[in-house]
Amino acid sequence: MSFDPSVVRKDFPIFETEARGKRLVYLDSANTSQKPRQVLERIQLFYETENANVHRAVYELSEKATAAYEGARAACARFIGSESARSIVFTRGTTESINVIRFTWARENVREGDEVLITEMEHHSNLIPWQLLAGETGATLRHLPIGDDGRLRLDLLEDYITDRTKLVSLSLMSNVLGTINPVRAVADAAHAVGAKVLVDAAQAAPHLSFDVNDLDADFLAYSSHKMCGPTGAGVLYGREELLEEMPPFHGGGEMIREVWADRATWNEIPYKFEAGTPNLAQAVGMGAAVEYLETLGMDAVREHEMELTAYALERLAGIGATIYGSRDLSQRGGVVSFNLDGVHPHDMSTIVDQEGVCIRAGHHCAQPLMRRLGVPATARASFYIYNTTEDVDVLIDAVEKSKGWFA
Ligand code: PLP
Repeated sequence: MSFDPSVVRKDFPIFETEARGKRLVYLDSANTSQKPRQVLERIQLFYETENANVHRAVYELSEKATAAYEGARAACARFIGSESARSIVFTRGTTESINVIRFTWARENVREGDEVLITEMEHHSNLIPWQLLAGETGATLRHLPIGDDGRLRLDLLEDYITDRTKLVSLSLMSNVLGTINPVRAVADAAHAVGAKVLVDAAQAAPHLSFDVNDLDADFLAYSSHKMCGPTGAGVLYGREELLEEMPPFHGGGEMIREVWADRATWNEIPYKFEAGTPNLAQAVGMGAAVEYLETLGMDAVREHEMELTAYALERLAGIGATIYGSRDLSQRGGVVSFNLDGVHPHDMSTIVDQEGVCIRAGHHCAQPLMRRLGVPATARASFYIYNTTEDVDVLIDAVEKSKGWFA
């Protein structure tokens, strides 16, 4: 079932380039992934043979564009186990998807005195929108704590999910700790008090096989660019009955059914949430990315990343790095945050860059989590389908060099 990452690597033209005159070792896929030829060619094909606006014209070219765009929607639905493509709203990415919920469902359903629950490990994209909502409505934003092992304190759930909880919004996989969260257990507790559940799957969708029904998610968000697709595209999944009830997001063309001088009625879902000309080629490219990952098989993707992560954790421990998050591979994905005594992560990432290694250093858009970990920043290596154990070896050698600089 598994694949050879050095063969997969050949699908990605970027690896024909060098970094600092050396073999490119790209270990920042949690930030954004590289793009395979299959996706790049699909986008090119769209512009060369199918380009027209969608849904609006009856001529053949527009029908082709519409078929390509709606085909991508069907692929994005299938990818997360959604039975209906009507549940799939195309957005610019996870951040926009979460903000759609803030400006539509949450504005109608969250009032003063209500509570929104997130977790201590959320990306700012799943924090700031709720801070802003709380400021506007008088609702309270609460944060489910994590333990020292980087896992959610499920034992505290009863205290944090109350009759006042209206929304629980949490990531399926952390972009800092790699923790895979027990979303279903949280969703069951949320639903027991009538709250809705939004799942931030920005990190999970590229790396894990999951099903919105098994998670019992009411809403779920993911981004194309982290899963081999282009930037500027993403998905908001919503249960059909919730999307039907929700007011529109942006106003403009496409999202209407009938318009008078002073009022309008709304298009059916999901088009009610897609005002204006969408990011057509990007959505088509995202569909191609889904098909590319499906061909590899998401179970094989996960298996490959578990192997690489195990190897990286072992090698990092071997050079005395502090590793944040669980060591239990069944509970974590291929995002490894670490620090080395006496080396600032920014210095480390500058030094490893000299060896052609791309890692991220900083707060990873999760400043409250950094405070919880007691550090201003970490270095982060994140793995994907095109990474090999050789990449990990180059990383470790380069990181060891950074130690030498400050000895
Ligand atoms: N949520 C998580 C867990 C992420 O890692 C990211 C991006 O790093 C986001 C949300 C935001 O995704 P985007 O920038 O694609 O909107």
